[in-house]
Amino acid sequence: MALTCVRCGREAPLVDGRLCAECYLDVYGLGRGPDSIELIVCPRCGSFRYGGRWVEAAGEGYREALALLFQARFRPAEHVAYYRVEEVRIREDEALVHVIGKLRGDTVERAVTYAVRFTVKHRVCPSCARKASGAPLAIVQVRGYGGRLDEEEEKLLEAAIPAALRGVEDHVIALEKVKEGYDVKTTDHAAARLLASRLKSLLAATVKESFKLITQRRNGTRVYRLTVSVRLPFFSEGSIVEYQGSLARIEEISSGRVVVRKLGSTRRRALTVEDSWRLLKKPSIEEDYNVIVTSISPNWIQIQTLEPSYNYLELRVEEIVKEGEVREGKYCKLLAYNGRYYLLC
Ligand SMILES: [Zn+2]
Ligand SMILES: [Zn+2]
Repeated sequence: MALTCVRCGREAPLVDGRLCAECYLDVYGLGRGPDSIELIVCPRCGSFRYGGRWVEAAGEGYREALALLFQARFRPAEHVAYYRVEEVRIREDEALVHVIGKLRGDTVERAVTYAVRFTVKHRVCPSCARKASGAPLAIVQVRGYGGRLDEEEEKLLEAAIPAALRGVEDHVIALEKVKEGYDVKTTDHAAARLLASRLKSLLAATVKESFKLITQRRNGTRVYRLTVSVRLPFFSEGSIVEYQGSLARIEEISSGRVVVRKLGSTRRRALTVEDSWRLLKKPSIEEDYNVIVTSISPNWIQIQTLEPSYNYLELRVEEIVKEGEVREGKYCKLLAYNGRYYLLC
C-alpha cells in the first residue's frame, strides 16, 4: 500500500507504517552491530576464541573470526525478515562488515555496511601450548583421603570440576583419569594453583606443592614443573564426624569453610579447612541400629532394634543425644559412640 513516508514525503510502500524502505535503512539500518570487537587469536595456528571455545580458522587473516563475532552480537531491526553477513573487509583497525538483508514487505534485498573497530589479542591456544612445551608446566594430582580416589570421592570431585575449572579451561592441556585419581595438566603454574585452591574451597581438600627442575635453557633460565597434590578429606556434606569428643554432622562445605554441628545441638561452627583437618576425626561407631521408638516416658525412652536382631532397649533420657523429633512409632537410627547413645530421628 503506497502511503506518504513521514521522513522524505515520497509516496512509497511503508516498511513500518511510517517510513519508506530507504528512510528505514537510513534510520535503523538492518539492525545494530557491536561498536567494537575484541579478537583473541592464537599467534601460532590462527585459531580464535568464539563462544567460549577455540575455533580453527578456515582461511587467512581475521575475516572469518570477525564475521562470526559480528554476527553473534548483531541485533536485527524489528522489520528485518532475514539477513546475512556477506563479506568482511579490513581497513587498518576497522572491519567493514557488509550485511545483506530484506525488509518485511520490501521487494529487493538491501545492503548495509557496518564499520566496526577491532583489536587483536594474542594468546597461545591449548593445543599449540601442548606442542610447544612438549611437557606440561604444572600437574594437579587429585587423590582420595586414603590414597586412591574411591567411588564416593570420585562423584564429589566430578561434580566440583566444572566450577573449579571455570575460566582456566584454556590452560588445561589434559584432564586424565589415572589409577589413583585425577591428573590435571596445565600450561602454567598459576592455573594449577587456582584449580587447587578452588578444590580446597569447594571440597575442603588439602593442597601441597612441590617443584622439579625439568630443563635449563641456554640463557640460564631454569624451568620447573609444579606438582600440586590435592587430597580430599574423609568427610563431605552430610557426613557424621567426631568433633570435640561428640558426634557431629557436616552441614555445609563452601567458600573454604566447613560448617559443623554437634548432633543434638543447633549451634553451627564454621571451621577453616586447616582446622577441619585438625579437629574432625573419623568416628568408629561402636553400634549402629535401625530402631523404632516404642514408648517414651519422662525418664526413659524404650526402643526396639530392627533387623538383624529384635531387642528391646530402655535408655535413660540423660544418656541419649536426640536429633530430630522423637515420638512413639517413629523409625530412627541409634548410634553408640564414646559411651553415649545418639538417637537420630
Ligand atoms: Zn522516505
Ligand atoms: Zn594455536
